[in-house]
Amino acid sequence: MQKKKKTKQTHHTQQTIKETQSSSYQASGANQNPKIMSILCLPNNETLVEVRGRNSGCGPRRGGPSRLDGYRQTNGYLPADAMASPCVELSNKMKMPVLGLGTWQAPPGKVEEVVKFAIDAGYRLFYCAFVYQNENEIGNAVQQKIKEGAVKREDLFIVTELWNTFHERSLVKVACKKSLAALQLEYLDLYLIYFPMGFKAGEELQPVDEKGRIIPSDTNFLDTWEAREELVDCGLVKAIGISNFNHEQIERILNKPGLKHKPVNNQIKCHPYLTQEKLIKYCQSKGIAVTAYSPLASPNHPWAKPGEPTLLDNPKIKEIAIRHHKTPAQILIRFLIQRDVIVIPKSDKPQRVEENIKLFDFELSKKEMDVILSFNRNWRAIPVLEYVLYYLLVQFLSIFSSSIS
Ligand code: NDP
Repeated sequence: MQKKKKTKQTHHTQQTIKETQSSSYQASGANQNPKIMSILCLPNNETLVEVRGRNSGCGPRRGGPSRLDGYRQTNGYLPADAMASPCVELSNKMKMPVLGLGTWQAPPGKVEEVVKFAIDAGYRLFYCAFVYQNENEIGNAVQQKIKEGAVKREDLFIVTELWNTFHERSLVKVACKKSLAALQLEYLDLYLIYFPMGFKAGEELQPVDEKGRIIPSDTNFLDTWEAREELVDCGLVKAIGISNFNHEQIERILNKPGLKHKPVNNQIKCHPYLTQEKLIKYCQSKGIAVTAYSPLASPNHPWAKPGEPTLLDNPKIKEIAIRHHKTPAQILIRFLIQRDVIVIPKSDKPQRVEENIKLFDFELSKKEMDVILSFNRNWRAIPVLEYVLYYLLVQFLSIFSSSIS
């Protein structure tokens, strides 16, 4: 596309609008969706983004579910944070940013600063988890940024999860309130259920028997779901969703007699070596938005084996990155966003946090998307069992270190 320049009078001053090169962010149903058409640079370094297209406003749309939506649109422009976080409309009409920050392994003492930095960089979606044991720091960061006036609570989309030891009906609200207290929030935007299977209730996050095996609970996720529906009804959470649920488990929820609130989101592992095409297609056909965790294939995961495929070093990804003047990480994240998938890469390095959100000024071609899709090898870097064992080890080490100090 040819670069044009034109001027526009705004309430600030006369500005230059740069037509961006093919800067359209397009989701499915192409011609019905708005496009990011241009970026308006203000002298105070603020940036506004022009969005054009049918129904590009934030309100509910006519004509069926939409994917991308603007973020606090004003006169056809979105503020800078919108460029960073276009939104997906969920089945309950909430707007969920397509990009967020994951916080697993974000170390205590560091995560607060990273979250503050991320808010300034334009992140509005934060994925937290009770089991990460860092919700209080995220809460501190959020409260501080709200106090500073950098952001309003309603601009943020905070997600956390019900941990496996709280699947009993009577514990669901208790767990939710614990997370709310740590995050210093009155409500959650989205409350996921981490795994379909529960563990024995109690203080231990990973209860094990004498042979070191996880002790399951005899709960049924359909009962847990009913208790979670009550959280929506009493206003503690705006929406409920699932994580690590497969097709059959989702069907069981959707077919549950008397279902009051559908899951709006399923968070699953997804990246080019695990493309999850069938599950994503199924979820989207049921109006369940998909969030991808480990979008970079979790390169520093604690149980990495020698010779394991590292996606960030894949030569074809590198080649595509060079072509677009982007980094491999940006290509991997953009690849998911172009599949209408919400993405939550984790980093505790400000430079990478910033890099991972600079995604909305380029587009992968259909050919590039197909090449990346062809990498699929159904590869899971973090098998669920190992993930659970990792937490056991962390717990053991923290008990051990507190007993010797
Ligand atoms: P990711 O694929 O997001 O990879 C994170 C790793 O990549 C970190 O070690 C980070 O290192 C590194 N990294 C981040 N950005 C870049 C970059 N631009 N260039 C090079 N390296 C980079 O893996 P995760 O497994 O952490 O998944 C993301 C989030 O998903 C988690 O944090 C968690 O919140 C969630 N999750 C949910 C699960 C579930 O069951 N629901 C399970 C697992 C994860 P550094 O921090 O040093 O920058």
